[in-house]
Amino acid sequence: MKIIDIIQSDKPSLSFEVFPPKTSDRFESVLSAAAEIARLAPSYMSVTYGAGGGTSDYTAAVCRSLLDCGITPLAHLTCVSSDPSRIRRELQRLREMGVENILALRGDLPEGFSPDTARYRHASDLIGEIAAFGGFCIGGACYPEGHPDSLSGEEDLRGLALKVESGCEFLTTQMFFDNNILYRFLYRLYRAGITVPVVAGIMPVTGAGQIRRLCAISSTALPQRFLRIVDRYGDKPAAMKQAGIAFATEQIIDLFANGINAVHVYSMNRPEVAEAIRRNLSEILA
Ligand code: FAD
Repeated sequence: MKIIDIIQSDKPSLSFEVFPPKTSDRFESVLSAAAEIARLAPSYMSVTYGAGGGTSDYTAAVCRSLLDCGITPLAHLTCVSSDPSRIRRELQRLREMGVENILALRGDLPEGFSPDTARYRHASDLIGEIAAFGGFCIGGACYPEGHPDSLSGEEDLRGLALKVESGCEFLTTQMFFDNNILYRFLYRLYRAGITVPVVAGIMPVTGAGQIRRLCAISSTALPQRFLRIVDRYGDKPAAMKQAGIAFATEQIIDLFANGINAVHVYSMNRPEVAEAIRRNLSEILA
């Protein structure tokens, strides 16, 4: 099924994410986590693509296993370290498997990246190529608090407009912890004439270490309300996990209540976290 049809229906959608293993010894445990999450009957599940593409076989294999579970997969694909023949091989493989949805990304810039010689400089280059290949519903990434490389919010909006012109049918946001940031961003998209559906990305933070890593790699703002939780429960893992799940659940309920119909949970291969959130929303999603 095409994700655009899922997220444009009147029914709220809740989807989950898994990431492929880096090494073969972890493959079975990732498959089993993906199958457990699939049993929660999410609207779809996304499978990330390792930076540089070194784990692309695993991304495809996890997508295959989701199809076997009856779940629509969204395969991530990055381009910055790739070339057209490799991209076409990936697209052909995904098409033959029955994968119909791709989240097209640039990927983080590798060391020594030179824009003058690179075949792909932006996700929009990849999106155009996938659109020309045909048959896929294409999504792209967006950043309600700005992409870390971006010089201005306006530049980000121009990049997003180009993604949409190139064939991007929906956007999925980077995580955010204050819904007002998303609401303001949606207004700016609307003013810029970018009207494709936006899927809100929610990260349940369940450990103090996780939050330190997130702060180091992204420009995501943490509201005081959230910082109080980390201060109080950061050194009590079970309490921190419960509080992180409750915080994410509250964010999701507020999003649905404000008319955001599609929420994607960065469930990070943790079925128990996905299950707890799904349970907290049982009547809301019924
Ligand atoms: P782009 O859209 O190319 O944007 C990157 C920067 O360039 C932005 O500052 C933008 O404003 C600017 N820009 C965009 N287009 C243009 C243009 N035409 N001209 C000038 N400037 C432009 N990484 C992975 O390695 N694997 C994954 O599976 C993965 N999944 C992700 C899923 C989501 C929902 C998100 C939000 C991110 C994900 N990432 C993943 C991270 C992503 O690859 C990085 O954030 C990367 O640095 C940017 O990717 P992008 O597709 O947003 O790039």
